[in-house]
Amino acid sequence: MYVSDCISVNERGHLTIGSYDTVELAKQFGTPAYIYDENEIRKNLREFKKSIDDNYGGNGLVVYASKAFCCKEMCRICEQEGTGIDVVSGGELYTALSVGFPTDKIVFHGNNKTCDELEMAVQNDVGRVIVDNVFELETLNEIAAKHGKTVGIMLRIKPGIDAHTHDFVKTGQIDSKFGFALETGEAMEGIKKALEMPHIKLKGLHCHIGSQIFDLDPFELAATVMLDLFKEVKEQTGVELEELNLGGGFGIKYLKSDRPRPYGDYMRKVSDVVNRYSAELGLKTPFILIEPGRSVVGAAGLTLYTVGAVKKIPDVRTYVSIDGGMGDNPRYALYQSHYELICANKASEKREATVTVAGKCCESGDLIQEWTHIQPVAPGDIIAVLSTGAYNYSMASNYNRIPRLPVIMVKDGKARVVVKRETYEQITECDV
Ligand SMILES: *Cc1c(COP(=O)(O)O)cnc(C)c1O
Repeated sequence: MYVSDCISVNERGHLTIGSYDTVELAKQFGTPAYIYDENEIRKNLREFKKSIDDNYGGNGLVVYASKAFCCKEMCRICEQEGTGIDVVSGGELYTALSVGFPTDKIVFHGNNKTCDELEMAVQNDVGRVIVDNVFELETLNEIAAKHGKTVGIMLRIKPGIDAHTHDFVKTGQIDSKFGFALETGEAMEGIKKALEMPHIKLKGLHCHIGSQIFDLDPFELAATVMLDLFKEVKEQTGVELEELNLGGGFGIKYLKSDRPRPYGDYMRKVSDVVNRYSAELGLKTPFILIEPGRSVVGAAGLTLYTVGAVKKIPDVRTYVSIDGGMGDNPRYALYQSHYELICANKASEKREATVTVAGKCCESGDLIQEWTHIQPVAPGDIIAVLSTGAYNYSMASNYNRIPRLPVIMVKDGKARVVVKRETYEQITECDV
């Protein structure tokens, strides 16, 4: 009935997440607040893991892309579920290290890692640095030499496939700041360079073709393009690369009309191509890495707000103001992302009002959704915005010096704080 299996309505007509009454959560922890169903996160991680076991005989690794939602507790969950973690900054790396995350399962991304960040990766023996460009390759080799270490890396390749939600294009040369280009020979040059470097161990190649993708074809196409490159590398250098990282980007349900494939489907179809095509090219099936982010946490989370003023502008529209906004969810302001909204304390009533939900920031563009259908709401009502588990907390800002929200996890009938609500003292802590 809702965009996520973990969302329902109880006998009091209140919205629930992981069977927990969201109106009670609002009372207990205050609003605005992010709420996650921990079991849903774990279920998703397990589904991806199972797909590696089923389709590649376990010869692979699920690497959670932590930029979707990163905090210590999320890192602990990944560790307990036996997945890896993908980090894209010193801050994300620090978070993973601070809970003792196994460093051999950390994958470090980014198109412009600083020397300090690379140093941090080398010192902590991060398992795979995904190298973006030649400058970084040379810098990393020097840093590794200084520490007397050899660093495991993969090169990020632009496979020339640009996938969007509902379609994709195969272009010779995509315009992207990420990675080595295939068609210009830049990729092959980088690979040869990496193979010659004494303090670099080139484990394999990486690609990531986009986000919120519903279609299987671009994933299949990317896999074949990458395997062709594996073959070419073998022919030109005699080296058979061991690992293929296919990135993330699996689509989730934001609206009821969204039709994402079950994650197992992606994996089965893509693995058919990988297994068959590697054999055809005379290659061993490589060790496979995947990097799901949004698909692990997106639909496992929601945000709770309290309604303040309701402003009806005759013949124009109705603005419903909430106690959060673009500071905790910038995605509508950034890219007009769609969300489903429910009045948590009137969840069994009809959604017959059409409103614009506005945040409290001094910015006309601070909207969470326009012309959305929701139950008729009044001041004091609780609004839940569904599927906010990915790229909300992680993209939050202190615009207008509004404290960042707490993160609450619900599991088996219990709720606990995993990130505390920020205080005014903390907001001014770095001021001198
Ligand atoms: C963002 C990103 C991911 C995760 O993407 P989702 O759409 O959240 O699954 C994985 N790999 C790389 C390199 C990324 O940049």
